[in-house]
Amino acid sequence: MIEKAIYDYLRQQNQTKLLPKAVLFDMDGVLFDSMKYHARAWQETSENHHLISTPEDFYLFEGRTGESTVNELYLRTFNREATEEEKQTMYKEKAALFNKYNDGQVIAGAFDVVHEAIRNGLQCLVVTGSGQHSLFDKLNEAYPNCFNRDLMVTAYDVKIGKPHPEPYLMGLAKAGVAANEAIVVENAPMGVESAVAAGIFTIAVNTGPLPDQVLLDTGAHLLYPDMEHLASDFNFLIETIKKANP
Ligand code: MG
Repeated sequence: MIEKAIYDYLRQQNQTKLLPKAVLFDMDGVLFDSMKYHARAWQETSENHHLISTPEDFYLFEGRTGESTVNELYLRTFNREATEEEKQTMYKEKAALFNKYNDGQVIAGAFDVVHEAIRNGLQCLVVTGSGQHSLFDKLNEAYPNCFNRDLMVTAYDVKIGKPHPEPYLMGLAKAGVAANEAIVVENAPMGVESAVAAGIFTIAVNTGPLPDQVLLDTGAHLLYPDMEHLASDFNFLIETIKKANP
């Protein structure tokens, strides 16, 4: 299964080798068990503004910027774009609710995945659409000395956001590696789309309520049910990649 995923990746991206030096981790739903709070905060904010949405929508929208999410809800409900003021107001309300609900819980198995990556000599970076000011402190508290503050890609860095390749291309640049020298770990369809469009071997972990097929349809090269399964397979995965790319 891993060999086929590598073969499919190389053929799809017109590459001859996959030689990972860095792992680019998405944050919400990969490193932190925070997606349920994002979805709840968005759903409540959406209801307060009489916008049409279901909690599942926010798992499908995950990764895109807050502004583009608000815009999407206005388009579907009122058939028009949201104004700048509406975007700012809603995003502020959503962020306040999220901060109230979020308990900073780490995703089960994520710590082991990060440590397996480090043990295999891989540089670890975070590429997220999230934009909380305390983000690095929270990250460093849960994953001490695993990530570098200067090598993060967050909402403050990107202009377009996922599903556009921009955030992952920035991640590659910050890591100083080529597309075929990285691996992405993502949980969101738009995140997978972004990573694949950036030319990177993309592992999806389905930590949310969406069907697996949604992640496979957006181009994930490998799929795991959660971070615990990825953790127990990680070393074997890296060994297999090395053997397939002598
Ligand atoms: Mg995510």
